[in-house]
Amino acid sequence: MARYAYVDGRYTAHQDAAVHVEDRGFQFSDGVYEVVARVDGAFIDMEPHLDRLERSLASLEISAPMSRRALSMVMSELVTRNGVRNGLIYIQITRGTAPRDHAFPANISPTLVMTTKRVDYFKQKKIMAGCKVITTPDIRWARCDIKTVSLLPNCMAKTEARRADADEAWLYDAAGDVTEGTSCNAWIVTHDDRLITRGVTDNILRGVTRETMIALASELSLTFEERPFSVAEAKAAREAFSTSATSLVTPVVQIDDTILGNGAPGLFTSRIQERYFDYCRQNGCRQNECRQNGAQA
Ligand code: PLP
Repeated sequence: MARYAYVDGRYTAHQDAAVHVEDRGFQFSDGVYEVVARVDGAFIDMEPHLDRLERSLASLEISAPMSRRALSMVMSELVTRNGVRNGLIYIQITRGTAPRDHAFPANISPTLVMTTKRVDYFKQKKIMAGCKVITTPDIRWARCDIKTVSLLPNCMAKTEARRADADEAWLYDAAGDVTEGTSCNAWIVTHDDRLITRGVTDNILRGVTRETMIALASELSLTFEERPFSVAEAKAAREAFSTSATSLVTPVVQIDDTILGNGAPGLFTSRIQERYFDYCRQNGCRQNECRQNGAQA
């Protein structure tokens, strides 16, 4: 099947898709992005992802390239063309193309790029059997709440993880507290059955999956605490897991050299994960019904 990317109004063969050399995304990382999961033929939490995209754009004074309705139509068209029933859609918006100058230029049109990736979530080893994470200092900037394409520190930490035969790196701040993963939010379950994740401030991304998990955890009547936890506390935890659109709910079974529990996904994590998978399946149905009713997908 042909694979397409969407670039500024055109569905282009993926291998030929390109932006201008003076695009500010390329020159300065001057752009933002979103990633939305597609599970069993439906986007998961599309509206909160598009809300966050609008917040990221507004924070950097980048204008929206098109209306939300038009954006969601392009998203649907691209996943249909690419036959993505399970996978991800990446939406990248940069400030646009202009002669090189650090200051934001006035009156330029943003560049919009969308690409897709197929992912068989329920067959991924790390999601089903759990993964190893390493810990490494968080060297990112002070506005990690904005989902910018400026991901170099995240790439460095993820590379360090891969070289240590791990799937992810959890980042820690100057106090030794875990901020988040390079592309996920971090969670622990303590021995007294508390579910803990860091509260949102400017130093982490307000994960859409995180928000959904908080709502679902209250249904499961777990004691939930939003507070920082240290690397030491994570290593002493009963269980740990990560959340993101790219990895849904992924059990963490090893942190650096410390194996959690018996090295397999724990009971709470498995329950939480199953509840989240159910949510995805149900959410998918609701969105399909929306489409059948002719509402905005
Ligand atoms: N934190 C970071 C740094 C991320 O890059 C991501 C996702 O890409 C997340 C957290 C999780 O966010 P979401 O659940 O919206 O995918």
